[in-house]
Amino acid sequence: MVGEFDWIGQYFRPLAAGNGIALDLVDDAALIPLGDGQALAVTTDAIVAGRHFLHTDPLDLVARKLMRVNLSDLAAMGAEPVAVFLTLAWPDRTSDADVAAFSAGLGRDLTAFRVALGGGDTVATDGPLTASLTAIGRVEEEGALRRSGAKVGDVLWVSGTIGDGALGLRAAQGGLTEVSGTHREALAGRYHLPEPRLCLGRALRGRATAALDVSDGLLQDVHHIATASGIGIVVEAERIPLSAAGRAVVDSGAVSLLEALCGGDDYELAFTAPAGADGEILARASASGIPVTKIGRAVAAEPAGQPVKLVDARGRTIPVPRPGYSHF
Ligand code: ADP
Ligand code: MG
Repeated sequence: MVGEFDWIGQYFRPLAAGNGIALDLVDDAALIPLGDGQALAVTTDAIVAGRHFLHTDPLDLVARKLMRVNLSDLAAMGAEPVAVFLTLAWPDRTSDADVAAFSAGLGRDLTAFRVALGGGDTVATDGPLTASLTAIGRVEEEGALRRSGAKVGDVLWVSGTIGDGALGLRAAQGGLTEVSGTHREALAGRYHLPEPRLCLGRALRGRATAALDVSDGLLQDVHHIATASGIGIVVEAERIPLSAAGRAVVDSGAVSLLEALCGGDDYELAFTAPAGADGEILARASASGIPVTKIGRAVAAEPAGQPVKLVDARGRTIPVPRPGYSHF
């Protein structure tokens, strides 16, 4: 079966090759140089009812999630949000109240993240509700965070906690009854309303050697840093930070640690930095109010091996059958 990345690589990357904007379609956003050392970071992400959110999810939360997953890509570039453009394809049965709810959620996050609604498009569809947002940010061209700068010997870091998004989906679907209602609510909250790590992304400019946002599963996304940077990465499973709720789920045996780590929807930042920069990374993260944890290291790429290896506390490789979410 082909994956989305095969299609992007085969059919779209060649069209974007060498244009000085698309970064070969390996990054979280394109960078359009403005000629004065500044650049616009531009990203677009779509969400589809039944795929990215539940048909029963309140539409104000859907709008806010759409906004946040796009801002997360700007965070991954170290960019500051400026404006968003919104395309909505509504099913025929849509009511005025549905549109009102969506716009209320959007309005709330436009204010919260101080970003302008620049325009959009509104159409009808025979399919499920589909919403696409294009987000535009500003960043100094030199300081922008890319996926491609990690060097052998760098440390791999991750922000916040991993696994809550995927576990939150299960909680939102009525699952995870093995843990307390408080834990289920905390997890469902993280699924519905991810927190784009904009302050942290900006704080890492000029210091992180590579970065991306963890949207499709930590190991699959770290794989993108490894291939874009031409290195290997060893991830230590036991260092990966879990929330109290995530830990409770894994301890209950309801979901394995591996499944929790490979589910996606975290919207944390994974990034690399030189081994000597630990103190500075911790200080910058602390100033931005987001905890960060060291979870691995960059190693020389093995020509025939997998670029990302997950290991246990004794250094033994843990097989990862399905490192992340794939649309196809
Ligand atoms: P992210 O998870 O950070 O949003 P994706 O995995 O969706 O990134 O996409 C990977 C890269 O492929 C990005 O650079 C994105 O712009 C590019 N891309 C995805 N789909 C298309 C498409 N249909 N045409 C052109 N570029 C695409
Ligand atoms: Mg991304």
